[in-house]
Formats: sequence, structure tokens, C-alpha cells
Amino acid sequence: MTHEELKYTEGQYVMQTYGRFDIDIDHGEGAVLYDHAGRAYLDFTAGIGVNSIGYGNAKWVEAITEQAQKLGHISNLYYTEPCVALAQVLCTRSDMSNVFFSNSGAEANEGMIKLARKYSFDKYGKGRGTVLTLQNSFHGRTAATLAATGQEVFHNYFFPFPDGFRIAESATIDSVKAVAGHDVCAVMLELVQGEGGVLPMEQEFVHALAVLCAERDWLLLVDEVQTGVGRTGSLFAFQQYGIIPDAVSFAKGIAGGLPFGGFMANERCRAVLTPGTHATTFGGNPICAAAALEVLDQLGEPTLAAVSDKGSYIRARIEGMNLPCLGATRGMGLMIGIEVKGNQTNKELAALLAANGLLVLTAGQALRLLPPLTITMAEIEKGLTILYDTLSHVS
Ligand SMILES: *Cc1c(COP(=O)(O)O)cnc(C)c1O
Repeated sequence: MTHEELKYTEGQYVMQTYGRFDIDIDHGEGAVLYDHAGRAYLDFTAGIGVNSIGYGNAKWVEAITEQAQKLGHISNLYYTEPCVALAQVLCTRSDMSNVFFSNSGAEANEGMIKLARKYSFDKYGKGRGTVLTLQNSFHGRTAATLAATGQEVFHNYFFPFPDGFRIAESATIDSVKAVAGHDVCAVMLELVQGEGGVLPMEQEFVHALAVLCAERDWLLLVDEVQTGVGRTGSLFAFQQYGIIPDAVSFAKGIAGGLPFGGFMANERCRAVLTPGTHATTFGGNPICAAAALEVLDQLGEPTLAAVSDKGSYIRARIEGMNLPCLGATRGMGLMIGIEVKGNQTNKELAALLAANGLLVLTAGQALRLLPPLTITMAEIEKGLTILYDTLSHVS
């Protein structure tokens, strides 16, 4: 199909829920994507934080291919080695106790919510099922995770939402206390709010929250669907906050481009979910697990340290450009937010950059960068050159 045929046919046959760029993508190599006509795009989006080890990664392709030739799927009624080996690596490298595998971020968060409610039910009985979340959070698009999401824009149309969530007005301990009550079983938060605009949590707030959770026997649930799997420069962001979550979810980057996710529990919560209380048909799929094992293998300590360095470098370079349309940068590792000022919106700036061959994301009012974690310095330079050449004329 030509580009125009693709667009037309998509309009006819795909539900129109996405605002797409006027670009088709055919294939990729490293951090560079190519459209059907062969035009190159530097990719600072990684499929929204998913393609953690870049495009066309030979060892990743080999891992998937080998596993597909052996076994593509078998239900959770049987043991499979990729799933078990992955569970061991993930838990060992994050000091968590055990893991449940799911297919997406929202599903992983739903699992954490169920874990918290059952923990509380087992100990205190009914009436303690409320999960507190924060303003500007994003936890997914299912009915429950939308209710947990602290952004009004996502709450149109879909009433009634499930009960059992209350949103604190800001990321401060006083706001959390203001929505607390005897019905609470957990707090769920992102350590860097992604969709909300790349907003890192203050260390002091997170520590105070961990203390409050311990005092009231609430579970501390950390949504690392975006921050997890090396994105912030450590395998999980919580490892840079000096806290031990009761449960932590992950998805996006875990399998380097295949749909996969899950959540881990700490020692105190390892046995909360018992046989028959939670399940999913595709969870722990052997091909996805083999892909995830390869991703984790490629994200060793030197690569994670480089993620922090590359992130600092990109931020320093962009701030040093003093562009009239961009303000301060924020974030952790290769999860970067750039304030937008001047006359253009973040979406208009992203469209201008795309037209010149650089793909970036938006979040809240900001531009957001989530490049592949393995992006090279040469690729970073190319992307930054396009950014400067495009935006230096924009006021
Ligand atoms: C993307 C995201 C989700 C939702 O993940 P899906 O795989 O789209 O269901 C949940 N939480 C956070 C923090 C995310 O960034």
C-alpha cells in the first residue's frame, strides 16, 4: 500500500481512537526508523518507552525466533523455562520476592490493586479496599486504572467508574493525609509521573510516604510501567529512592517490543495471592519471556550507568541551546521532560520535529523524550542537531 492508501484504509477499518502523525513506519535499525519511502527518522520515543534495546537488535530477534520454533504458547497449567528463568532474574536484580506476569501495564496495575485489597481483607476483613493515588498520575485505560488515574481529562464519558480510589491533590504528605481514612489499604504512585508531564517525585515525599504506609499498614504500590527496566538509569526507579515497595509493576520496556508486563511483591506480600485468586491466559508467554531475558541481559550495570550519563548529556545540551520555545528540562535517566514556552503547543512542536525527521513525545504541557536505552552518542547528536535546526527559528 502507498502512504495515502494506508491512511485511507486505516480510516475505514480501524477505530479512530488515536491521533496519529502523518507518518508510516516500515522498519528500524538502532534508534533510526524508516518509512515506506525510505525516509529516515531519529527516534526519541522508542514506541512510548517500549523498544528499550533499539530496533533490529540481532540477539533479541534470535532469542524470539529460537523460542518460537520450540514453543510459542502453553497455558499456565505447565512449567516453562523462559518464564521461570525470567522471574528469577527480575526478582534477584530488584531484591523483590516473586512475580506475576501479565500482558500490559494496566493489567499489571490491576493485579497490584487486587494484591493490596486481598492483603487487607486477609488481615482486617471488609471495608478497607480504597487505594490512594496522586494528581497528575497515569495508571492505565481499563475502568479501574482510569479511576485510579489523577487526570480529569481521562475521566470523561466513561461513568460510572469503579469505587475504591481517592486522589490526593498534590504529591505532598499533607495532601495524602487529607484523603486518608479507615477504608484505605494502599497508596499507588509513579516515582516519575510519565504521562502527567515527566514529573519526578521529591525524595523526602517518597520517604515520608513509606513511613506513613508502614504506620497505617497500607501497601506501598509503585507503578514502574514507564520508569522500570532501566529507563531511569537503574533497573527500577525505586532503587534510586532507597525504598522497598510492597509491590512494583512493570510493562512497556520489559520485552523490548513485545506485549508483556507484570508485578513483583516483596517478602511480606509474597503469599497474598493464592491459587485461583489471580490469572491471565497469556501471562508468562514463553516468547515474551525469552525476549525479556534478552533485554535484561543487555541492560547490565555499564549500560544502566550509560543511561544516566546520556540523559544528563541530552538535558545539558538542550538547556545550553537556549531555544526561545523551550524552557527547563526535568526527569531521570532517559526519561526526559522539556518545558514548552512561547506561542506553540507541545503537539505543534512535536509535529514540526517529526516533519524534519525527529520523533518526540508529548506529556502534559511538555515535550517528552524516551529514546531507546541503547541509543548511541552519534544518534543522539543527529537528533539534537535536528532539534536545534528546527526549533531555533520557532518563537
Ligand atoms: C503506559 C502506562 C500504563 C499503562 O500501560 P498499558 O500497557 O498501556 O496498559 C500504566 N502506568 C504507567 C505509569 C504508564 O506509563
